[in-house]
Amino acid sequence: MKIPTRLYLSEDEIPTSWYNLRAFMKDKPEPMLHPGTLRPVTAADLSPVFCDEPIKQELDDSTPFIVIPEGLQSFFRAYRPAPLIRAYFLEKELGTPAEIYYKFEGTNTSGSHKLNSAAAQAFYAKAQGLNALTTETGAGQWGSAMAMACAFYKLSLTVYMVKISSEQKPYRKTLIETYGANLVPSPSSTTEAGRKILAEDPGSNGSLGCAISEAVETAVKTESCRYVLGSVMNHVLLHQSIIGMETKAAFDKYNVKPDVIIGCAGGGSNLGGLIAPFMGERIENKNDIHFIAVEPASCPSFTRGRFAYDFGDTVQTTPLVKMYTLGSGFMPSPNHAGGLRYHGMNPTLSKLYHDGYLEARAETQTDVFNAAVYFAKVEGILPAPESSHAIKVVIDEALECKRRGDKKVILFGLTGTGYFDMSAYAAYNANTMTDYIPTDTDLTKGFASLPNIPQNR
Ligand SMILES: *Cc1c(COP(=O)(O)O)cnc(C)c1O
Repeated sequence: MKIPTRLYLSEDEIPTSWYNLRAFMKDKPEPMLHPGTLRPVTAADLSPVFCDEPIKQELDDSTPFIVIPEGLQSFFRAYRPAPLIRAYFLEKELGTPAEIYYKFEGTNTSGSHKLNSAAAQAFYAKAQGLNALTTETGAGQWGSAMAMACAFYKLSLTVYMVKISSEQKPYRKTLIETYGANLVPSPSSTTEAGRKILAEDPGSNGSLGCAISEAVETAVKTESCRYVLGSVMNHVLLHQSIIGMETKAAFDKYNVKPDVIIGCAGGGSNLGGLIAPFMGERIENKNDIHFIAVEPASCPSFTRGRFAYDFGDTVQTTPLVKMYTLGSGFMPSPNHAGGLRYHGMNPTLSKLYHDGYLEARAETQTDVFNAAVYFAKVEGILPAPESSHAIKVVIDEALECKRRGDKKVILFGLTGTGYFDMSAYAAYNANTMTDYIPTDTDLTKGFASLPNIPQNR
């Protein structure tokens, strides 16, 4: 059968369950710990902050398939199935015998895969009878996705957006506000955490850690309100498994079997979602797929991080998570425009990496943008800088196939579009983009912030 450019799935073929990868792992990820007692966290510990159903999913490492509620499936049908595309033009341009496919998550207005979990979390908040949610956003994709989802499910939303980012990306701010969310540049005077930071540094540009503190504080203090997070946590990875389930359904239909699967990794949610059903089979020795995570050289959690218990936020209030981390005190370089700046990595992917199921590579920003522009010119789609980390490694792998005359089947996740990243593309075009790779001394400072607990010794 000739493979079409778009491997078509109908609306009826959208998966109706998520794939809980942890249920397929013989060696499970370590439990999250309460930072005070150092005992595994319970649902009761998490319930003042998070919504009930996502907490259940977070703590569930045994149910293989979790049903997607009908009220959520109907929202998915408005923008899914996401296209699975054969990159014929890219293959031809590279002159590679490899087959290249990408799952494109940038077709919804928020512009990335993040809407898959935003919709799920808004749906569960509504079902629980809540009125409001809070969250933080750095680059703005998560805030945009949550704003769309909350508009649909009629919930009020407050987004604490890192101040420098709200100034550098005014159109992200406008998009979030257009969908009806209340956008607060962080640090703000609306919370104790924000006021404290402003008192110390009135000109503060803000940080993700500070925005998280503000969002959590507001959620805990507001009646009928909870906090939502867009990556790192296992329930987010579960929601993103729809990416992999759809991809597998389409591949099965056209009898395509991937040899290599490549994805970018910030907190790990898109990669974990894309690989989930394929990794489940890999663990059961039903395939021999080579999985590659790609991270920025400026924030190399997998390739240079430690596998340790760490906080999820820079102000050290969250539960402790066993993961690959640079330390919650690690500060990514301000010249890095390519996203994926998070210091840690999802605990399930961390465990798989530790056990040798996953390779990781770190790429520099200029190499990533070279790949992004090359891809845009041949395939037409302007990729998000984050997604372009995967593209860089896809091109490397396809050229390696060419040298060896190897007809591998390569799949990658094209997580989003780059329309709101014009200042980064402008810097690239003007030749002013620079690379930064932290020295070992830089990393030592981050590692010093790791909690000094028996589990880490
Ligand atoms: C947020 C984001 C990422 C990285 O987040 P993960 O949780 O690692 O998937 C990747 N690509 C795009 C377009 C994003 O918005």
